[in-house]
Amino acid sequence: MEIKLTNFSSVSSGVTLPKKNVKLLIIGSGPAGLSAALYAARADLKPVVLTGTEMGGQVSLTYIVENYPGFPEGIGGAELIEKFKQQAEHFGAVFEFDSAVEVNLSKSPFYVRTYQNEYFAEAMIIATGASAVHLNVPGETELTGRGVSYCATCDGWFFKEKDVIVVGGGDSALEESLFLTRYAKSVTIIHRRDSLRAGAILKNRAAANPKIHFIMNSIVTNILGEDAVKSVKLKNVVNGEIFDHPTDGVFIFIGHTPNTQLFEGQLEMDDRKYIRINHLMQSSVPGVYVAGEAADPHFRQVITSAGMGAAAAMQAIHFLQDRVEISS
Ligand code: NAP
Repeated sequence: MEIKLTNFSSVSSGVTLPKKNVKLLIIGSGPAGLSAALYAARADLKPVVLTGTEMGGQVSLTYIVENYPGFPEGIGGAELIEKFKQQAEHFGAVFEFDSAVEVNLSKSPFYVRTYQNEYFAEAMIIATGASAVHLNVPGETELTGRGVSYCATCDGWFFKEKDVIVVGGGDSALEESLFLTRYAKSVTIIHRRDSLRAGAILKNRAAANPKIHFIMNSIVTNILGEDAVKSVKLKNVVNGEIFDHPTDGVFIFIGHTPNTQLFEGQLEMDDRKYIRINHLMQSSVPGVYVAGEAADPHFRQVITSAGMGAAAAMQAIHFLQDRVEISS
């Protein structure tokens, strides 16, 4: 049931929650949120970070990050996130393992209700990231967790010496396919076109890996199996041929969608629901900044999200300073 906010009190949830006034509330704990927390903490704002259900977001599920400067051998995604968090905590950022469930940005201080508290924030940084897009084919939902997965790092281990398919032709699909070859007997990449979207390095690595095979110009129309995935139905989009392909696992990496539903109707968004920001990370509401994949469908790198987080925090710091100067 959707709970509507009638006024700035805990009446809306029917439960009395503790009220907390904060200078800066950061929603999200991926590279964007954690970098924002570091910068804001160093400015003594004592930012509160709502981590959401997955501390670290998508990166924490990445086996190895090879393109974040400073780690020439690469670094595990979860380890990198832990380092980000420790650094922000060292300067006074406060982490709450909690999620925002309702916001009201129509007036200041901004209202955010979580499962545990009601926050009143003078400024806010939204760093809620993005989530994997689903194929939306029959069998996908029913067999998720029983052979269908969106995370090779989480589930690859279950497919030791098994045959799996990976759907998608971008960097994620190839990177995750390469990771899956550690466990799987074979990894077959199913791509809907005749050429891959992924960059040259990953393309070359995948092509050189004897465990990786390709089925091009094809889409998955059904995922089949009772208690576990047994096969997929594929359709060749060029000649229309439909055929069964036996497999033990289906890994889907076909892009992402921003986690911005909470802010719909309150912040300007583009037609794909990415929050619109200017070059200063400023949303359509003054004092509300956005960093990382909630506003960035394009770069989607740890370093770009972290950079946006730092920039958003610097702007939030200015915003709060200006308010103090105006009111004093
Ligand atoms: P992406 O680049 O958008 O690629 C999505 C892939 O899925 C495309 O090949 C697309 O096909 C395919 N696809 C989309 N919808 C589909 C559907 N309904 N059915 C079948 N196939 C579908 O997404 P991504 O791979 O997640 O990468 C996103 C961004 O993150 C990119 O900028 C990428 O460079 C970056 N990234 C970088 C790295 C790295 O540098 N190591 C790693 C991961 C991601 P089409 O090609 O036909 O559109």
